[in-house]
Amino acid sequence: MSQAQDTETVQEDGVIESVSGPVVTATDLDARMNDVVYVGDEGLMGEVIEIEGNSTTIQVYEETSGVGPGEPVENTGEPLSVDLGPGVLDAIYDGVQRPLDVLEEKMGTAFLDRGVDAPGIDFETEWEFTPTVDVGDSVDAGDIVGEVPETESITHKVMVPPDYEGGEVTSVESGEFTVDEVVVELDSGEEITMHQEWPVRQARPADTKETPTVPLVSGQRILDGLFPIAKGGTAAIPGPFGSGKTVTQHQLAKWADADIVVYVGCGERGNEMTEVIEDFPELEDPKTGKPLMSRTCLIANTSNMPVAARESCIYTGITIAEYFRDMGYDVALMADSTSRWAEAMREISSRLEEMPGEEGYPAYLAASLSEFYERAGKFQLMNGLEGSVTAIGAVSPPGGDFSEPVTQNTLRIVKTFWALDADLAERRHFPSINWNESYSLYRQQLDPWFRDNVSDDWPEVRQWAVDVLDEEDELQEIVQLVGKDALPEDQQLTLEVARYLREAWLQQNAFHDVDTYCEPKKTYRMLLAIKTFNDEAFDALEAGVPVEEIQDVDAVPRLNRMNTSDEWNEFIDELESDLKEQIRSLY
Ligand code: ADP
Repeated sequence: MSQAQDTETVQEDGVIESVSGPVVTATDLDARMNDVVYVGDEGLMGEVIEIEGNSTTIQVYEETSGVGPGEPVENTGEPLSVDLGPGVLDAIYDGVQRPLDVLEEKMGTAFLDRGVDAPGIDFETEWEFTPTVDVGDSVDAGDIVGEVPETESITHKVMVPPDYEGGEVTSVESGEFTVDEVVVELDSGEEITMHQEWPVRQARPADTKETPTVPLVSGQRILDGLFPIAKGGTAAIPGPFGSGKTVTQHQLAKWADADIVVYVGCGERGNEMTEVIEDFPELEDPKTGKPLMSRTCLIANTSNMPVAARESCIYTGITIAEYFRDMGYDVALMADSTSRWAEAMREISSRLEEMPGEEGYPAYLAASLSEFYERAGKFQLMNGLEGSVTAIGAVSPPGGDFSEPVTQNTLRIVKTFWALDADLAERRHFPSINWNESYSLYRQQLDPWFRDNVSDDWPEVRQWAVDVLDEEDELQEIVQLVGKDALPEDQQLTLEVARYLREAWLQQNAFHDVDTYCEPKKTYRMLLAIKTFNDEAFDALEAGVPVEEIQDVDAVPRLNRMNTSDEWNEFIDELESDLKEQIRSLY
């Protein structure tokens, strides 16, 4: 947060009138909506959320016990903003962008005390700035003026802030500078540094939002194969306890082909958050062998952070994501969990005595959720580049009941739904994404990409798989009543093919060196091999070969080993030719 530097803008103090949990009312405060204020003798950070006559309502980002009427409230006159610049990657922040390691140093503990402020990026570190413009060049808002090697993996682009006028470059520096030193000057008088501030509740501007047509390839067969998400798309993933939510998120953070990952841990139980904070810095980017954190920014609400900071963390995260998008990067933002975020809104709303909507959530729940997901997208940027923010929100419906308001409102907005299923997890079917309940509305718009980059018949082959799985679902009901053997042979065969789809294709072991990542071409070839088995088997059946004989063919169980095969092209070629030969020899 940047307000600590802005003490010169401090205005007249107000006085606390009442305190109700995270909500404080003050009188005589000269403030505007969303101004950041310091509350009480300890100077706790808060934000103005309502003004009525002389009375100002503030949500406070820190624990308010012990704060009482009569204490002062100081206005910074600035909206809640994030500090943007080199140093954001590899950082772990709390919900209002205070770096946890800096706080820890100041406090001597990871559990934050109150009234401590710290800027979001380090103002003392010097960064190597290499300009990409010359004196005399003309630059506009959003244009890139230079580069900084921020981490091992990412080159940070220094941009003209979006709210600048722009103009002709009159001076350019090159070399080592702190983020607040001027590196480029314009004839408009504007000075460009490596540091920008941006109010979190305001989307950073871009030229146009475009229809996303490129998938965010995850290397997870069920996602790329059946429920793909676009770069710039939105997805929701419910996470009942033990359903593999953490593993799925790690897999996405590691393997999804995003340049940058922003991970927002929003109000999950303390130990889960600690897990994330401990796990992530250990993870390796499998593609480069470098630490995953060098392209990741982590925002974590520690267990003792009050609800208001939970409400803000989502905005902090998406603003950081937009900033890297503006450099032309593809950013994936993962928010875990939007349910806790909604609960924070509910708590604050009830303190404000607002008219409650469904299940006590504020009437603006749907609007807030859609405002958040709206900021995702693929954009034509002000500087002519393209960039994207993909938003993946976990939801944690109490008792796994998808009919509750947060899940329902989320489903109306997002275009991809990956339904993690506790029953599948219990049966050790991983990733435990339920193929009957999940969906992706991007399939069609991504089909041209898959046709061009994987195989021309990708959509047809996928549809074949979907149909078989659907049929299996229907047949299962009958099987439960009368048993498998009572089914006609062709239906028994369909069940056998569906079993291979589930076990050999949909299941994927995140902990196996080879299977952990499956490139789309391999995903396709594996599916095609199962279809080859299907086609050959049905031909044989028609020729009068009994189902058991077809099932017993030597090569068939090898379908289960495609996933772990390193030399998969050769393995599948050979398997397909053996399947054909052996099944055909039956008749
Ligand atoms: P949650 O976060 O939902 O409580 P986890 O992600 O920790 O659940 O998953 C629980 C366990 O399930 C893991 O420890 C692991 O053994 C198993 N698991 C989950 N996903 C996979 C996967 N894709 N591949 C293999 N095992 C998995």
